[in-house]
Amino acid sequence: MQVHLRQSLTHVPPYRQGKQPLPGASKLSSNESPHPPLPAVVEAVAQQLGTIHRYPDIAAVPVRSLLAERLGVEAESITLGAGSVEVAAQLIHATTEPGDEVMFAWRSFEAYPSLVRIAGAVPVEVPLDDNAAHDLDAMLAAITPRTRLIFICNPNNPTGTVVAAEALEAFISAVPHNLLVVVDEAYVHFDRTPSRADGIQLFHRHPHVAVLHTFSKAYGLAGLRIGYAVSPPAVAEALRKVAVPFGVSSLAQAAAVASLQAEDELAVRIEEVVTERGRMFDALQAAGLNPVESQANFVWVPDQNAAGVTAVSLGELLESGKVVARVFPGEGIRISSGDATDVGRVVAAISTIAAAQPAAV
Ligand SMILES: *Cc1c(COP(=O)(O)O)cnc(C)c1O
Repeated sequence: MQVHLRQSLTHVPPYRQGKQPLPGASKLSSNESPHPPLPAVVEAVAQQLGTIHRYPDIAAVPVRSLLAERLGVEAESITLGAGSVEVAAQLIHATTEPGDEVMFAWRSFEAYPSLVRIAGAVPVEVPLDDNAAHDLDAMLAAITPRTRLIFICNPNNPTGTVVAAEALEAFISAVPHNLLVVVDEAYVHFDRTPSRADGIQLFHRHPHVAVLHTFSKAYGLAGLRIGYAVSPPAVAEALRKVAVPFGVSSLAQAAAVASLQAEDELAVRIEEVVTERGRMFDALQAAGLNPVESQANFVWVPDQNAAGVTAVSLGELLESGKVVARVFPGEGIRISSGDATDVGRVVAAISTIAAAQPAAV
């Protein structure tokens, strides 16, 4: 006899991690930082190791106060989780009853549909527009009396597109104020749009906005699991109720504080990733692969491109050049921008495509 399991889990796939590469290969499948942790971060974590027989500080005062100061918000508005994925789950649990709707663009962050289903809510996926960007008009039109939460992933994973500042502001104003708009800014540090949409400013100006930030990408702490939301006080209080107790370790808290204190050093690393993103984009463009202009630490190549190279075959070509990227069969491929060596490998691998191209007519 089989143990009773939740019927609805049939529709929930296990989270698919970016492929693990062979030793020596470039892992460009999970949008991680290509850089190992800063010495100051390693030192801060090492100092905490002697305390791991104790539970961590659930209020995480040092990291929350530092964040409050940097962001110009009340510490009360900041709530943590074991990665912003956990915080996204908290937001869904805090706003939905079974059967309520959570809307997001599609394709967007892979975790959204599963998190929504696990909470017993209903995912509403609104297709991206022809430019692989959020279709805000379609999203507005898709709001129903059951909608409780809308994720705007900005820049969007996996396409790297951004929502313009005025467009996002207009969207938020048009959304009923009893419905929470969550701006997921996992990649905000890589956004070089001259007047980018600033989630924290939007949070200050509107009563129904929350912002998600993570230490996993620009700060290079993916393995330690720490992320946070900035949300209105009533929402923050609800998030504290649904959070997994002690989900954020003392090691992660210490690493986050050390990272916030080393932002100048991190900025240099981030700039390198942005530069390499540009180099990768140019090479993909020259090969006729129609990459999408990206403001994140990765570039998206759609399955339909002038070179006629599918995501699956581009994935194989990259692998033969010691690069592992994230393939979405039939849709496209997402290649994280690593360091100069990683991107050098991408450029070398696709040079054979450029060579095989017939002369432009
Ligand atoms: C990577 C990512 C996150 C962050 O995940 P963590 O749980 O903080 O590691 C959140 N949102 C999006 C869109 C992402 O791509």
